[in-house]
Amino acid sequence: MSNKFKQLDDLAQTRRYSRQIMLPAMDLTGQERLLNSKVLVVGLGGLGCAATPYLASAGVGQLTLVDGDSIDLSNLQRQILFTEADIGQNKADIAARQLSAQNPTIQINAIAQFADAALLANLMDDHDLVLDCTDNLTVRQLINQACVSSKTALVSGAAIRFEGQLCCFTNQGDGPCYQCLSTLFGEPQLSCLEAGIFAPVVGVIGVSQALLALNILAGVGQVPWHQLQLLDGLTFDWRRFTLPRSADCPVCGGG
Ligand SMILES: [Zn+2]
Repeated sequence: MSNKFKQLDDLAQTRRYSRQIMLPAMDLTGQERLLNSKVLVVGLGGLGCAATPYLASAGVGQLTLVDGDSIDLSNLQRQILFTEADIGQNKADIAARQLSAQNPTIQINAIAQFADAALLANLMDDHDLVLDCTDNLTVRQLINQACVSSKTALVSGAAIRFEGQLCCFTNQGDGPCYQCLSTLFGEPQLSCLEAGIFAPVVGVIGVSQALLALNILAGVGQVPWHQLQLLDGLTFDWRRFTLPRSADCPVCGGG
């Protein structure tokens, strides 16, 4: 893969992104940073379906989509990239097809398999940032371990019932990791299958993951690193907590 810095040298591309390039905080510099960014999205369920259209349309240069699951009728309530015609097909493949239609100028890779430690370790070095859009605690822990060992930034999202959770981790050895969060706040025990999910809650969290990822990649705004944000979809109350590092974290070493 070429490491050459890509520039906006094409009028159609400049026009495609004109409404965000005109934002002084973004400008051409921010847009070119996005164009040169590689984002790994693990999970193309409700969170991934909400986050990825914004990453693709904003011009993130390379998206890698990982999901081994196939589309079921019960997914369509919240997994808005999919239609009835896609039932039975792989989520990463169909998401890649939809996003490529939305923005054919970026590179989108679909990996139609469930993430495991080996796959994640392989992918880390070639990506600048990871979005955890999974709903499985074991995979969340594997993603965290891979991000901490490779020092890759992580934007973590989760949603269940009417509740959403969001947190950005630098993984540069200067703060807590996802495992620290699990230790302090307890680990989610139920999946959407068991507990249910109100679709717009997962949408708000997924779109927020995209917003934070774009801010981080373009160098825009102040990223709320290591701030746990909790959304209550019944009252629309957002609460924010500063996450401390867990002193005896088995993953990031604490301290
Ligand atoms: Zn930790």
